[in-house]
Amino acid sequence: MEPSQSPVLSKYDFGRLRNMWEPLVLEVVAGLIQRWEMCDCQDCVFDVTALALNQLPSKYWVLDKYDVLTTPDSFLNDANNKRLAEESVLRALRLVEKNPHH
Ligand SMILES: [Zn+2]
Repeated sequence: MEPSQSPVLSKYDFGRLRNMWEPLVLEVVAGLIQRWEMCDCQDCVFDVTALALNQLPSKYWVLDKYDVLTTPDSFLNDANNKRLAEESVLRALRLVEKNPHH
């Protein structure tokens, strides 16, 4: 995440604020690229990733702080979450393939 441009917020490390779906979504995207199942240009990869993330419920955690409370590992290893990420990416891919920006 880009640090905010606001001087008020410049002292905070917003890089520690992480979208929990992102690693799951990127894993699915990587698999599709490796298996030649989607276009690997930057436009398509970013469009599919952004669309897939937008379709999933917001889920953030603060790195190194709340790990104990919401253990990201249990979220990332959850079979249902993996399935939801995969479905979201495939739905996004179908939309992007219909209207690619490359
Ligand atoms: Zn493309």
